[in-house]
Amino acid sequence: MSMHPLSSVFTDELPGDPDQSNISRQVSGACYSEVLPKGMASPLLISLSTDMAEELGLEAEYCHNDEFAGIMTGTTLAKGSKPYAMCYGGHQFGHWAGQLGDGRAINLGELISKGRMYTLQLKGAGPTPYSRGADGFAVLRSSVREFLCSEAMYHLGVPTTRALSLCLTGEQVIRDMMYNGNPAPEKGAIVCRVAPSFIRFGNFEILASRGDVQCLQKLADFTIKHHFPHLLSVDQKYLTLFREVADLTCRLITEWQRVGFVHGVMNTDNMSIMGLTIDYGPYGWLDDYNPDWTPNTTDLPGRRYRYGHQPMIAQWNLLKLANALYPLTGNEETLKDIIGAFRIRFMAGYQTMMKAKCGLYDHEDDDESLIYNLEELLKARETDMTMFFRLLSEVTPDKQNEEIYTLLEPAFYEEDEENDTYLQMFMGWFDRYRERLKAEKVSNTDKKTRMNQVNPKYVLRNYMAQLAIDAADRGDYSVVEELRLLLRKPYEEQPEMQKWFARRPDWAREKVGCSMLSCSS
Ligand code: AMP
Ligand code: MG
Repeated sequence: MSMHPLSSVFTDELPGDPDQSNISRQVSGACYSEVLPKGMASPLLISLSTDMAEELGLEAEYCHNDEFAGIMTGTTLAKGSKPYAMCYGGHQFGHWAGQLGDGRAINLGELISKGRMYTLQLKGAGPTPYSRGADGFAVLRSSVREFLCSEAMYHLGVPTTRALSLCLTGEQVIRDMMYNGNPAPEKGAIVCRVAPSFIRFGNFEILASRGDVQCLQKLADFTIKHHFPHLLSVDQKYLTLFREVADLTCRLITEWQRVGFVHGVMNTDNMSIMGLTIDYGPYGWLDDYNPDWTPNTTDLPGRRYRYGHQPMIAQWNLLKLANALYPLTGNEETLKDIIGAFRIRFMAGYQTMMKAKCGLYDHEDDDESLIYNLEELLKARETDMTMFFRLLSEVTPDKQNEEIYTLLEPAFYEEDEENDTYLQMFMGWFDRYRERLKAEKVSNTDKKTRMNQVNPKYVLRNYMAQLAIDAADRGDYSVVEELRLLLRKPYEEQPEMQKWFARRPDWAREKVGCSMLSCSS
């Protein structure tokens, strides 16, 4: 009973850095640098994604062995593993930042399970040539957040990198959590992330920025061969690759908007070439529906990465990827057309998605304005997004507006007194909505079932993650486990878990970690 030997597909097929020293540096002519994890004092597994383990063919019993905790913290090297850090660059907050790279992520290699290839990556296993003076470690709080959220997103049906394990390292890490001159020791931790690929827009950008077309082409060929194999024999394969990445990104953002997820740091180094949610840092979930909300304190001045801006930013990031791929395609017009089409495609997909959240499937000319007015209604009074849409599935055309109001009342935050203007707006919208529902061909029961498949009952609200962190910090991992189990079935009623189907509590409104997060992790 052990782990299958790992393969080294990425490192065997792509050019590597000949320098083997683990010193921060610029790395050219290469897609990665070999680097060994530091190894930790006393690895301890504190949570396991049993679903991910099963998918990887890892038996639960093995995962509770010391050997496994050793491998998951970079303390023991898995068989076949040739660890490496990837070289990438990126645009951060709208500006080219040059070389970034895996500064605290170390890839162990690929595990082939049930005919699929998965890359295992440790986040926080020590410094690499890309650490740029930072320590290469991660703390417990950010690791709990990444571990819980990536698995929650997976079960919500949102494309994402995954998490296999959450381990304590037994070592301390110094962090100035709020960047206010108060550094303090925190528990070190490591998440083992899993994805078919961790290649980002930034992997292409760095090569293009250096005019390294040879390496750029190798990386694009590798991406196509392993992750877009249906493009191997098409004409203009790099252009088609870009079109497919644009489509995957479009779907990804639509899914974020559907569940109320705000990434918080949509820099191009945090954009996956496979359209996966990647790099869970200061992300957040909408409690009240507010398109201007950003969870990231660093983002506050311009709110570049606010919820309502995510589609625009995705398009901007695609433009940067197009620039990087231009040397391979040489077709500026088509690249521009694809970027232009992104907006149109997103708007169409967004409408369909929002209509599905409302239980509307047929077409009526007025639907767009109905959705627009719903967004206005949600903004007009502090309204919990998750609760509103979940409760909306109970609304049927025969119900009176007053009855509907009572039904939806749990979604309203108390701070806002109801007033006549709001009530008028509410009644007006529901008059229209009930009429519109009558035009649908599905039965009330079917409609409810379908709505409950796109409107989750449970999401990882910011305060919930914080409760899990506070307990874990005290050595109590039961909340992590409770939330992990809860979020495996986010669309199911789970009556025994009803306490998590609630608005954000008042104490969490302004609390660090619950309303706002810094990048420090
Ligand atoms: P992020 O904002 O987490 O996506 O990180 C941006 C860049 O900073 C990436 O190149 C990371 O590898 C690097 N980075 C972030 N935190 C650390 C750290 N503690 N040690 C080394 N590099 C880091
Ligand atoms: Mg990143």
